Order: sequence, then C-alpha cells, then structure tokens
Amino acid sequence: MPSLHALCLVALCIPTAARPQDAQRAPAVEIARVDLEAHVRFLASDELRGRDTGSEELNRAARYLADVLRRGGVEPAGDGDGFLQAVPLVREIRSEPPAMTLFDDAGVEKAVEYGADFTLLGGGVAPREGLRVVIVRGEDELPAEPDEGAALYVATRYSTGMKWIASAGYESGEGFGALLFPGSSRPGRSRFRPGVGRPRLDEAGAVSSPPRVRVNGDLRARFQSGHFAKLDLSPNVELERVETYNVIGRVSGEGEDVIVFSAHYDHIGAGEPDPDNPERDVIRNGADDDASGTACVLELARAFARGPKPAHTLLFLLATAEEKGLLGTHYYLDHPPVPLARTLCNLNFEMIGRPDSQAGGAGRLWLTGHERTNLHEAFVEAGIPIGPDVRPEQNFFQRSDNFAFALRGIVAQTLSTYNLHTDYHRVTDEADTLDYEHMETCARAAYAASRLLADGVIVPEWNEGMNPARR
Ligand SMILES: [Zn+2]
Repeated sequence: MPSLHALCLVALCIPTAARPQDAQRAPAVEIARVDLEAHVRFLASDELRGRDTGSEELNRAARYLADVLRRGGVEPAGDGDGFLQAVPLVREIRSEPPAMTLFDDAGVEKAVEYGADFTLLGGGVAPREGLRVVIVRGEDELPAEPDEGAALYVATRYSTGMKWIASAGYESGEGFGALLFPGSSRPGRSRFRPGVGRPRLDEAGAVSSPPRVRVNGDLRARFQSGHFAKLDLSPNVELERVETYNVIGRVSGEGEDVIVFSAHYDHIGAGEPDPDNPERDVIRNGADDDASGTACVLELARAFARGPKPAHTLLFLLATAEEKGLLGTHYYLDHPPVPLARTLCNLNFEMIGRPDSQAGGAGRLWLTGHERTNLHEAFVEAGIPIGPDVRPEQNFFQRSDNFAFALRGIVAQTLSTYNLHTDYHRVTDEADTLDYEHMETCARAAYAASRLLADGVIVPEWNEGMNPARR
C-alpha cells in the first residue's frame, strides 16, 4: 500500500534542471544505480533479518561486503590478509539473581536478599569465596598492596570511593576481590530481571575488575560497625562472546596519510514473532539505515580502485555495532590498520536512500555539523551540490560513527539525506521504499567530493573552537 510518504517520493523524483549540469561535473568514473540497488536489496532482504549485531545474518552480510570489495580490486585492510576485522564484544546473560553470603567473626552465616539488601553495580563476573572484609573509612586507609582475597567496604559515596581507589593507583579496583559501598539506609526496591544485556566491548576491565556492590538498610549499618568478617559473592552472570566484524578495504595512494570513508552495515534485527499473527512482518530491514550508506561506500571503494591513483591512502570502513553505541568504530579507532595520527579525515554516510525536501530534494546530500569544519564551504566552492544541515536541533553530527572519530580530534562528518521519515527503525524501512535514482545522483556527488579529499585538494580543518575533542 503506498503511504503518503511514498507518494511524496514520486513527486520528488522528477528530474530537475540541476541534473544535467551535475552529470557534466561528475568525473569519468561511473557509479551506477543498478549496483547500489543490488547491494541494498541484498542487505535489506528479509533473509538477513535486520542484521543484528552478533547474528549469523550480519556475518553473512560481512562476507558479502568483503566479496564485493575483493572483486572490485580493493585491497584488504582487516585482520591478517583479509577484509574482516574481528571486533571482540561480550554480552551478559543473567538467569538468576546475584547471591551473597556474609559471615561474622564467629563464622555465623547471614544470607541476604538481592534487591533489598544489596545490588550489583557492575564489574567482573567470576564468583568469589571467603573474601576478608576490610573497612576503608578514608583514602589513607586503602591497603598499600592489592589483595585478591580482600573485599573492600569503602565507607563513602560510590563516586568518591572510586576516586580514592583510582588515585591510589588501583584504576577500577583491579587486584581486589570485591568492592562494596554504602547505599540507602532503607532496604532497596530494585528487582532482578533475567535477560541478555547489550553487547559491549570486551575491555580488560569487563572481566578482570572486581564486582562492585551497594549495600542497603540494616546491612549497611552492620557493615559500618564492622560486624562482618568474610563474604562469598556470586554475580551469577555469564559472559557470552559476540562474533562480529568490521569490514575494511584500502586503496593505496601516493602518500601514507589516510582518509576514511565509512558507513555502518549493522541494524537492529527483528522483533518477536506475533503468535496470533505469524505472517506479521517483524523484520526491521534497515534499508535506508544504513544499507543505503553501506552501498554508497562500497561503490566509492570500487570507483577509487579503478580510477586514478589518489594522493592519500583511502580506507573504506563498513562498521558493525553502530546501533549498540558506535562499538565497531570505537574498536577500529583503538586498532586502526594505519596509525590514527595519519588519519586526516573521516567522511561517513548515513541514510541516503530517500530525498530530503527540506535540503533540496532528490539528488541532494547534506553534511552534518556543516559549520564545524572547512569541508562544506569547500564542496560548495567546487560546485558539488551538498547542502548544510538544516536540522541542527536533531544533533545529527553526534548520532553516527563520525562522532567517534571527532572525539579523537579527527575532522569527521556525515553525509546524509535523512528526511525524518517515520519508517526509521521500523519494519517498514524496506528496500522498496528507497529512491535509487536519487541514490545514484548522491553517490556520484559523493565521489566528486571524496575525490577532492583523496587528492589533497581540500585540506580538512576544524573551524575555530569546533573540535569536540578539545573541549
Ligand atoms: Zn544508522
């Protein structure tokens, strides 16, 4: 059924007078609608079930992307000799509430209840037994040496206590068995909920740091008075590894300085099937978000691989787990194939599948945070039809993978044509709703813009006071 939105798209598709001029400006390398459409139709197919991070379907998408790059003559820049960069993520599985048992001096046991007496604030998941309780009432009472057999009861606010611990050189308490903090003087009311947590990067701290516990009510008073001598603690959390990959290709230039072109190929997966209506669509296909940007980056990579050799080296990053908090890109930034200091700029692509009437309509890209750098002005000066971000209140500059680069001080912005359509993150973000004419025009403009960066015609710079890393 055609939505009002689909009808608008038809109206916006009518070619405008600007198009022939754009075509003249476009370089000899052709980016074709048919290729862009084929990528989107595969990535956004029901078969890929919404490309959730950790799913076999997302890994299938990764292999597809690697294959397209390889066949396009792009060099691999992932792990080993391949295009894939494994991104180590873990997620927590909780099936039972955390358990704690306390013992007084005489060895008398006191069982306590999760939620009312204590809650778990995070930290490592390994069970600990027979930890000696050490009371710390001031920064100067922290043990001089780490002690895996000690549970520190740090008798101050959690944030203050963590500062004491960090400034004593123990970071998040590494080397101790557990950290406990006073909570409310009344029993807590939080309830245990079984479930699977969000994927997160498997930093060393996720496993090696001690569990952090808050104690409430009567228990808090008893800890303060030194009533307990020992404790056992079982977080009852299992860590499950999540298998997922960034896909990275490279086109070597004359120099080693790098421009990174990126898009995220993950999406948010499928909902639970409706038992009363098993035919109901539950797959959030993510055609616009961000199969469209991914298709564009693939075609840019192929175009650069067969075009003239660029001045700078180009990396093409198709990132995983953007929807989980830019995790794939954060991992890339900690493990770049070329040292980060050589990265001059990141141009990211997010949702370019539908025209944005507020930003000039079909074939017209806009740049997030356009006022922050010299890029937008330079594109306009070169006659490339890229508009400003007309919805600054939406904060798009901070809402995609470019922001992770920007936080490291690298000039990084996103090209988009997102028009705030209501299919965003819904089962209706389907390949049929995209305008592939529009995408082709945008991808060609993107190539022209990217060429200026790749050939060093534009030297990317933050405008005065606009680099978010320096605040
Ligand atoms: Zn997105």
